[in-house]
This record gives sequence, C-alpha cells and structure tokens, in this order.
Amino acid sequence: GPLVVGLDIGGSKTHGAVWAGGTLVAEARSGSANVQNVTPDDAARSLTQLFHDLLPGEHRGVSRVVTGSGGVDTAADAERLRELIAPHAPGAAVDVVHDTRLILAAGGARTGIAVIVGTGSVAWGVGEDGREARSGGWGYLLGDEGSGYWVAREAVRRALHRHDLGQHPDALDTAVLALNKVSTPTELIGLFHSGAGRTYWASQSRAVFDAALGGHSDAQGIIQRAAVDLTRLVLDVVTVIGLPGPVVLGGGLAMHQPDLQARLVALLHDEGITDVVFLDTDPVMGVRFLVDEAS
Ligand code: BGC
Repeated sequence: GPLVVGLDIGGSKTHGAVWAGGTLVAEARSGSANVQNVTPDDAARSLTQLFHDLLPGEHRGVSRVVTGSGGVDTAADAERLRELIAPHAPGAAVDVVHDTRLILAAGGARTGIAVIVGTGSVAWGVGEDGREARSGGWGYLLGDEGSGYWVAREAVRRALHRHDLGQHPDALDTAVLALNKVSTPTELIGLFHSGAGRTYWASQSRAVFDAALGGHSDAQGIIQRAAVDLTRLVLDVVTVIGLPGPVVLGGGLAMHQPDLQARLVALLHDEGITDVVFLDTDPVMGVRFLVDEAS
C-alpha cells in the first residue's frame, strides 16, 4: 500500500519513520534539519541522508510526509522546510507542523499540554475548542530555559564564576573542562563563541545530571531551576487555555533524566497538576496517530 513517512526534526537530530498500511517498516536518524539553527545546506544534507536510509532506491509510493519540527514559528518557516522535503517524496502531500504536535500525538492525547525538554525547550497546549497556547521555545539565543543547552551553559557560567572568585575547579567544573578537553575555565569562553554550536553544548548537560546524581548540590540546583522554569512554561499555557488534558513531556532530557522528571512531577503537583506523562515512545511515533486522526 501507500507509504507514510514521519519526520521529527529536533535541535540535534532528525528521526524518520516509514509506515506501510499502518505498519512501521523502517526507521532512521540523521543530523538536525531545523531551519532555524542549521544552514539550508546542512538541513538539505541531513534530509538527503535520512531519505536514503529510510527508503533505499526509489522513493515512489510515498503518499504522505508528516513532519514535526522545532524552529517552525511562521508559515514561511514551514514552507522553507517543506521545499527541502518535497523533492524526496515526489507526488506526496507534505505537511510541516511544530514539533510539539508530535508529543501530544505520541502520548495518544488529542487535547492537553505538550512540553519538550531536549536541545531546546517549549510548552504548547490545545483545548477541546481547538484553542492553542504556547510559551517559550524561542530558540537558544532568546530562551529555551531548562533545555539541554541551557543546563550546560549554566554549568559553564558557574565554572567561570568560580574561576573569577579564585576557586579551584570542583567535580562539576572538572567534568565540564574534561568534556571540552581544556584545562582552565577561561578557555571555555572562546570555545563558546567559536560556534561550537548548540548541539555540542546541549550534549554536555549530562555532566550536570551525573554530578547531581553524585550528590553535587549546585548541579542539583541547576536541575531544580530548570524544572522551575519549565513548570512556569506549563503554567503560562494553563493561564491561556486552562488544563484541557494531560501534560505530556518529550525530548531527550524529559524522557531520560529521572532527576528532572521527579522535580517536574513535584512542582507540577504543587500547582495541582497531577496528570503528567513522560513519553516512553519516540515523538515521531505520533505521526501515525495524526494520520489516523486525519483519515
Ligand atoms: C525551538 C522550538 C522547539 C523547541 C523544542 C527550540 O529551540 O526554537 O521551535 O519547539 O526548541 O524542540
């Protein structure tokens, strides 16, 4: 039967899946194709690689491509991405939606609030009447509080501050220095401005989570602040549309960092929000649900 392709384009990677008559038949991953953060050439390269791995040989028979992507804030952003995808699936209907749409769908919810905590962060919700609201997700230069990039940057800022005060690198500082293969915090400044990129930094958030697990109180403090900021994003959305369903969280940090999960659950609970779901399936799986809903 006709093939449906789903794409989840995050800040650090692109995840693709193919369904034939509702059955998952292929999956592949490539670099990010987020048009806000990578060059058009890099986005095009990531998509070429991905389609090559997903559909070796001829691409005929794809009837529909549903893409959820970060960095899609205007119709023009969506169109730019659509034009990069369309040539890979000639004749197919190509839809581009914001990456949050995949989160709710992957959680099996039609209404509710989706939160992404990955390389970037955002909250978005939709109610019974179709009313939508969003908070944050403006990209790493403007916000993305609580995201992997933000967590890692806080650790770098902390290392620099401690260095300014003449303090010797502690366990967290040492971990950050080691990940960057430098010996003094001041070397991190140039590295940060050298265009190492947000994927590079976001991946270093694990130093903070590891230190927190080891009992490092400032590392725990950074994660707590992330949880507070992310909770605020959810509450912003609630202010506009109420709480029309579960809060469904996806993205690398939300799905794989139990410390962050526990803090979020506690903070949301304090606000009376108890229906909180952490995705245990990849967001791209939401495409199946979106396609079923539409047909
Ligand atoms: C992007 C948003 C996206 C969020 C989560 C942010 O950096 O600007 O569009 O929803 O990350 O992926």
